Amino acid sequence: MGEAADLLTQSLEDWPGKTRERNEILYYSGRYCLNCGCDTELVYGDKIYPHRSDLFHKTFYICPECKAYVGCHQDGRAFGTIAGPALRKARSRAHAAFDPLWENKNFFSNRRKAYQWLAKKMRLPTQLTHIGMFDIPECLLVETFCKQLKGEENNDKQDR
Ligand SMILES: [Zn+2]
Repeated sequence: MGEAADLLTQSLEDWPGKTRERNEILYYSGRYCLNCGCDTELVYGDKIYPHRSDLFHKTFYICPECKAYVGCHQDGRAFGTIAGPALRKARSRAHAAFDPLWENKNFFSNRRKAYQWLAKKMRLPTQLTHIGMFDIPECLLVETFCKQLKGEENNDKQDR
């Protein structure tokens, strides 16, 4: 577990102080909890899923106060901002609506193009257009946009 702790310390040194910018960067990289106003902790999967030994080697950022969390790569890059149960559910619903659009190549030929479309719809810069960074209302918007797209496409096809 020492390695994980070293990683976090190292990364935090890149953003010294307690500025708003620092907190924003850390928030979007899973290292800061906006709810509690505190830095998250890097832990292994055993802390989060004590009954899932297959996840013990995975790393997560967790808020020490509210216990919201997000998974991260071994190098410390988080999959998004930390999330509680309701937000995690909303994100998986958004992924279920969005991912098939490019995975099946029905609407987009690749992932990048799908996210470019989503960024435009969400009116967000592409670097902040990740479902892992969205809040619950944003996840609901993703579902709505995907439904609209599918509906429009179906109508188009019927017309042809
Ligand atoms: Zn928190």
